[in-house]
This record gives sequence, structure tokens and C-alpha cells, in this order.
Amino acid sequence: MGQLLTASDIPSLSLLYKLRKLSAPSPGASPLPTTTRPGPGADVPPPSKSLNDRVGLIRGDITTLKLDAIVNAANRSLLGGGGVDGAIHRAAGPELYDECRALGGCPTGSAKITNGYGLPARKIIHAVGPVYDPLDHDKSERLLTGCYTRSLELAVEHGCRTVAFSAISTGVYGYPSQDAAPAALGAIRKFLTGPDGDKIDKVVIVTFEMKDVEAYNEFIPLFFPPVAEDETTTDNEEDEARETEAKLTAEAEAVASELPSAPTSDPSDTGPAGKKQRQGED
Ligand code: ADP
Repeated sequence: MGQLLTASDIPSLSLLYKLRKLSAPSPGASPLPTTTRPGPGADVPPPSKSLNDRVGLIRGDITTLKLDAIVNAANRSLLGGGGVDGAIHRAAGPELYDECRALGGCPTGSAKITNGYGLPARKIIHAVGPVYDPLDHDKSERLLTGCYTRSLELAVEHGCRTVAFSAISTGVYGYPSQDAAPAALGAIRKFLTGPDGDKIDKVVIVTFEMKDVEAYNEFIPLFFPPVAEDETTTDNEEDEARETEAKLTAEAEAVASELPSAPTSDPSDTGPAGKKQRQGED
């Protein structure tokens, strides 16, 4: 396994704004998904430093994160599959399969939690995203939002204060990244500003493929806009930001050198941690 990253190694949105890796939303931009935007968009919510400090963004392999919990994009059997599910089962080892088998599956739009076993993360939250249905976008969105909300509830129930999400449903399950990112960000913001929001210290969004990197770069500023001080920095802060950036680049290169190629087609491997079958909705 490559270098492990802890919560403090992962750049917060506040830092990414300072480093100009994220930029303020353009005037008139809407947080609604591009493909379903009916007309004039909803308003961008007010900026919050506390929220921007508590959300992180990183591109890489979620199995290398040493956080309290990582969220897997599982299927209803919970018995492993391709994509991120396969990577998590391989890294966690066979005990994970045994614990998952005892859980008896999980409905779409919900999640279950297990131990992390061979992973650096203490817990794994297995969220079952929907297979995207272009004929029923609302249902797909409700189920995807449910995955994020239930995963955060489970994290709180199990005392997990730092949680990383993979881009649920955007792989084999075909959810367009431009629609999945705003659904995920809306659910995360709602949870962090809700009654149990202060029980989570950091939510990390983990991207893997460029399409998700691009979708999050576009939609993050619409859900977590920069506060004024993120955009005006002192010389000292500029130096610190440059140092952090150099460290992150070195770490990202170390992680990237260990990464498998990003999947470009359906996985074709088999076995308990093998092919993830599309499963029809209930
Ligand atoms: P789903 O069937 O829910 O679409 P996939 O595993 O096919 O699940 O894809 C979910 C997301 O996980 C995709 O965006 C994919 O690029 C990403 N992914 C695949 N492997 C990893 C990994 N090791 N770490 C983080 N994300 C990953």
C-alpha cells in the first residue's frame, strides 16, 4: 500500500480556495443539476468558513485514507464487486466478506457499516446507490441522496468524526457526474448544518476519474461558496499555502504512482470481489 493520508493531510475547501484550486461561482450560476435545471436556479447558500474548513476534497484511492470511516459504493448483496467496491474488499481482506455476508444485504438508497479490517480506516460504510434511471431522475436523486444522509447518520451513530465518500453510482451504475455531484453536495451540506452536523469534523469527497473532478470543481462553489477571507490572503498565508501545496503535490504523486488505472469500462473480473452486477431497482 502507498502512503496513508490522515484528515489533516487532506485539503479543506478553505485551503483549496486560497490556493485558487477552486474559484467563486460565476454570477447567476445555479446549484441545481445542469441536466434537470428547469429555469432560474435556486440561490447559492451563504458562505461559511466553518463548513469550508470541515469539507475536504482529494483525487485518489479511497483505500489509502486513514480516517474514521470510508464510504464504499456497494451493491445490494454487499458481497463485493468491481470498481471501488472491489478495491475496498481486496484491501480489507476476507474478514470483510464474512462480516458483509452476515448483514444479509442492504436496500438501494441506504447503507450498512462494518469494520475496516486491513484498511487504514476504522470503519467501512457500504452505501447502495441507485442504477441511474434517466426516465425517473427524481427517484434516482432521492435514492442517491439517501445514501449520503444514511451514511452520515451511521458515522455519527458509530462515533466516526472523519468520513470519506467515493462518488457513489457514478461508475458502473451510470449516474451522470454532473447530476450526482450536486445531489451529494446538497445532502452533505444539509447534514452538516443539521442537528447532528457538529458530530462530524470532516467530510472528504474523493474523486477518481476526471469527470467527477470536473463536476465537483463546478458544483462545490455553488454549495460551499468561498468566504471573503479565503480570497484575500496575507503574504504569510500565501507562503503557508504554497508549502502545503508542495506537500500535497508530493503526496498526490505518491498516491497516483500506486493507483490502478481509472476504470474506463465495466469491470470484467469475477469472484466475491469480482464483477459488480447491475441489479434492478426494487
Ligand atoms: P457504482 O456501481 O456505484 O457506480 P463504481 O465502483 O463503479 O460504483 O464507481 C463509483 C466511483 O468510484 C466512480 O466514480 C469510480 O471512478 C470511483 N472509484 C473506483 N475505484 C476507486 C478507488 N480505488 N478510490 C476511489 N474511487 C474509486
